[in-house]
Amino acid sequence: MQIKILGCSGGIGGSRRTTSLLLGDDTLIDCGTGVLDLEIEDLVKIRRVFLTHTHLDHLLSLPLMLDTVQEEAELQPLQLYLTRECDQIIREHLFNWKLWPDFFNLGDTEPTVLESNIFTVGEQIKTDQCELQMLPANHSVPAVGYLVRTGSGGSLAFSGDSTSNDQLWETLNQQPDLDHLIIECSYTDAEQELSTKAKHYCSSSLAEDLKKLEHKPDIYLTHLKPGAEEEIVTEVQKLVPDRSVKALRNGQQFEL
Ligand SMILES: [Zn+2]
Ligand SMILES: [Zn+2]
Repeated sequence: MQIKILGCSGGIGGSRRTTSLLLGDDTLIDCGTGVLDLEIEDLVKIRRVFLTHTHLDHLLSLPLMLDTVQEEAELQPLQLYLTRECDQIIREHLFNWKLWPDFFNLGDTEPTVLESNIFTVGEQIKTDQCELQMLPANHSVPAVGYLVRTGSGGSLAFSGDSTSNDQLWETLNQQPDLDHLIIECSYTDAEQELSTKAKHYCSSSLAEDLKKLEHKPDIYLTHLKPGAEEEIVTEVQKLVPDRSVKALRNGQQFEL
């Protein structure tokens, strides 16, 4: 199965797009601005969206794409996978007829176009092509990451937005293997204070945590602050010289 990075920046500007990963051609993890680049024929193929959390940079394209795919979704509702907390937040604050129509319930006579599937950290969901497990995260709002595993044995972990979190590393160490790790690192060390407040990793807090990881996957940094990308990667690499650390690139593809 192919995983394509549609967006991986911590913000916008130029060609930067915010977080979204396309698994095969019918599944998304997060729905940031990267989804806005998909053609209509690609959007209508998407059957399920796994959310890490409700911050706009991970969610923005979901309400917008529903307008485009509504006709197809009336035949086969778009399936949303998320925690109970995330489900409550988007129902209350987004799909509330004020910011956007309530696509969960457009009225008694209208077909359903969006359905929630509540799941919890540790639980596994099988799609046609892979298995996804929710990973623990530690962010300013309820958040999770995802571990993706395919039948052929390939594995990729994606942290979502998170700061230091022992549970994540324990969970990853319990896995038999790990091929790729996509981990957020939003700030340079100079912004350590801000990273603590916003509950994101900075270079040194991530480097410290990477020492807990027993596997030796390829490491890709995501959610880098716009303009500080190179500096963050250089800082982390210097602190963990025995690891290979690269910036995740928009458009990058992984074969699992
Ligand atoms: Zn966030
Ligand atoms: Zn974010």
